[in-house]
Amino acid sequence: MLAYERKQQGRGFFGPSRKDNREIKAFDALIAQQRDKNIAYVFWTGGFDSSYGVLRLLLDEKRIVQPLYLKGAVDSGIFQGLHRANRTYEKKARDQIEAQIKQQYSARASDLLPVQEFDYMPKDKAIVNAVQHLKLFPARFNQYEAMARFAKFYRIQVHVGVIGIEGEKGAPLPTDAWGTHLRSALQRPQNVLHTSYVTIADQKHPMSNLIFPTAFSSKRRALAGATQKGYDNILRLTWSCWYPINGKACKTCDMCRHRVLPHPGDTNTKPSADALLRAFLRNHRQIIKK
Ligand SMILES: [Zn+2]
Repeated sequence: MLAYERKQQGRGFFGPSRKDNREIKAFDALIAQQRDKNIAYVFWTGGFDSSYGVLRLLLDEKRIVQPLYLKGAVDSGIFQGLHRANRTYEKKARDQIEAQIKQQYSARASDLLPVQEFDYMPKDKAIVNAVQHLKLFPARFNQYEAMARFAKFYRIQVHVGVIGIEGEKGAPLPTDAWGTHLRSALQRPQNVLHTSYVTIADQKHPMSNLIFPTAFSSKRRALAGATQKGYDNILRLTWSCWYPINGKACKTCDMCRHRVLPHPGDTNTKPSADALLRAFLRNHRQIIKK
């Protein structure tokens, strides 16, 4: 993004507040300080996919990893009163994963830098419109579109935890618009030494600043790889569920259904009557507030 364009974002009623500007300045300074250190920036929620990405970069590829967490509104869910009810669970998962890495891989732990959290989401009509034009997601705002805006604003490339655009081995290819688009847009890694560097071939694509290292893997293959390397126990600490109830995963949401491991603290495999009722109401577009 040009300096001029960036400055424009600071103006007008919906521009960054004074607090936002402090956050922007601080992260700009950190990036400047980290330049030339070959830092791997990663969006890390504490979920299975992004945690696998962090572990792979840190433990397998011996990279210095700078995790990033977007606290602000990153999709249209906020309008349905459902916005990211799982934030505290994600935080707990990240804390437990960090502690386990310190214990299990003490020599690598210092290369996992402290998580940077962000309230401010840069606005960027060009990206929002370009992504909407591709018709990848049902809503105008989407987490990946938000991640692309963020990466462009700070002029960095960021790893994204997308897994499974080809599905599991032997199963038919997933037909969702996002996966189908990525299958054709992403450059397959040519060189085994650089398998993590999977990006969109078209430099003008609105998401060309995101890196998709695990897109061609699958959740089961990721788990098998982690088991072989001995860090599957860390993946067991991850949290995926969107709609936790009293500390337990709901077992009804998409994230629960696609999970290949039980959630921490799971004792039974079936959703509770409460969870089923809530899922029913959600599916009927009722507003449920926690
Ligand atoms: Zn769930």
